[in-house]
Amino acid sequence: MAPSRLETISFTTFYNIVNAEPRYAKTEYHGVDPTTGDPNWDVPVATAIDVEDAVAAANKAFEQWKTTTWGYRTERIARFKDALEAYKEEMTDLLAKETGKPRQFAAAEVDNCFKFMDWHIGLKEPKGETYDLPEKYVVNKFVPLGVAAAICPWNFPLLLSLGKVLPAVQMGNAVIVKPSPFTPYTALKMVEIANQAFPPGLVQALGGDDKLGPMLVEHPDIHKISFTGSTATGKKVMAAAAKTVKRVTLEMGGNDACIVLPDADIAKVAPLVAMGAFFNTAQVCIASKRIYVHSSMYEPFLAALTAVTRSLKVGSSNDEGVMLGPVQNVMQYDKVKSFFRDAQEQGYKFALGGSGDGDSSKGKGKGYFINPAIIDNPPDDSYIVREEPFGPIVPVQKYEDLDDAVRRANDTKQGLGATVFGKDEQLLQDVAERLEAGSVWVNTFPDPGPEAQFGGVKESGIGTEFGTMGVLAYANVKSITTVKG
Ligand code: NAD
Repeated sequence: MAPSRLETISFTTFYNIVNAEPRYAKTEYHGVDPTTGDPNWDVPVATAIDVEDAVAAANKAFEQWKTTTWGYRTERIARFKDALEAYKEEMTDLLAKETGKPRQFAAAEVDNCFKFMDWHIGLKEPKGETYDLPEKYVVNKFVPLGVAAAICPWNFPLLLSLGKVLPAVQMGNAVIVKPSPFTPYTALKMVEIANQAFPPGLVQALGGDDKLGPMLVEHPDIHKISFTGSTATGKKVMAAAAKTVKRVTLEMGGNDACIVLPDADIAKVAPLVAMGAFFNTAQVCIASKRIYVHSSMYEPFLAALTAVTRSLKVGSSNDEGVMLGPVQNVMQYDKVKSFFRDAQEQGYKFALGGSGDGDSSKGKGKGYFINPAIIDNPPDDSYIVREEPFGPIVPVQKYEDLDDAVRRANDTKQGLGATVFGKDEQLLQDVAERLEAGSVWVNTFPDPGPEAQFGGVKESGIGTEFGTMGVLAYANVKSITTVKG
């Protein structure tokens, strides 16, 4: 069916969505266009009253929605897809404006939303188990759990918020989306458009200040938190959720390792590793943040990686052929600069970048541009190896012995993703098995999709998103035992 414009949506006025109505407030905030440093549109700061109203509307909507069939809910997701497709171009422009990402990658994020929607539309209802025993029947089934709050980050503000809405509603729940204050715009519009397909109160959005997240996490009538963000905040969410024994899915930070095996084809692998390290200006939870290369090929590999990275064009969204946009916000910009400063103060060798006053900013306008940098073999205990920069600076380290490389790769409290490159298929699988990570990609840059479970081990998270288990993350398990005769 061709997408139709069901209602006109303004892409220059923004508000929260409570019970299918726009909700304004006396106090407003705004994101900043990272390309220019100029303010983006004003958005209302949700109040405690807005939270109460949204939670009440969500619980009311849930009472009815939980009685609908999987087929009905899936058909509504298909309608939502049609509605969103009608605004594909506007959403792409808005996403590029709020994040600064190159237009081609903003378009790819929007396209990815439709892939996720298609996957949900094709998904069969996950069933539990039944046991027909001589004396009784036992039915173990999945039931919706109520109202979920989706607490979202700023790096993929549209896809990661949609990625919480779809499984929540498909499993029979209501959901309140809380976008990052840095990037509220596409998430608010996505929810507004969702209201063309779902009943009032089922999908709502509340954006606001630092008080809003804790208010949602502590609210007794919210039953699940799906959080994506930093490990530090995720720990606070988990502690606060304990008070009401909320279900939590926590998708948190990573310090992902990439291991290049001695038999890897340098010319083929270097561009993939560069993509894994620098895509989205390295503001990717599963970006390669520590690259381990065998000593036999270290120098030529580093030279190839440096050459590829040097060729990546840094610039504004609409610049021709641009690969890296600005860092999304000034807080993150300052954090990334601290990694440059530390590497310079410690005297580490930069294979690429690192000139100037602690960063390699291009200084375009007032935007938060940083040229990508590669650090040549810093020590294991360096700041750049131990911590997640979430910006375009990456260490490449030498290893002699593969066991030692795997040990160093696993020597972190985090365990989100990892990549391994080489030719020997058995060895690749063996290394993939030994890496302590929720997702491992073999011979490709990190490349998640709707069908692959996505989640971290250790301090990178609890539970997974996407895939069938990502849908079941919005279910309780209920067992009914009936004695025969
Ligand atoms: P963040 O932790 O600062 O914020 C994430 C969200 O939590 C925002 O919406 C924020 O407003 C909210 N928040 C802040 N304090 C809160 C509190 N006390 N209670 C409830 N909510 C609160 O993270 P960020 O800077 O937006 O994102 C970057 C981090 O997210 C990186 O560490 C990155 O690795 C991680 N990340 C992880 C994944 C993943 O899937 N594992 C995906 C993207 C980003």
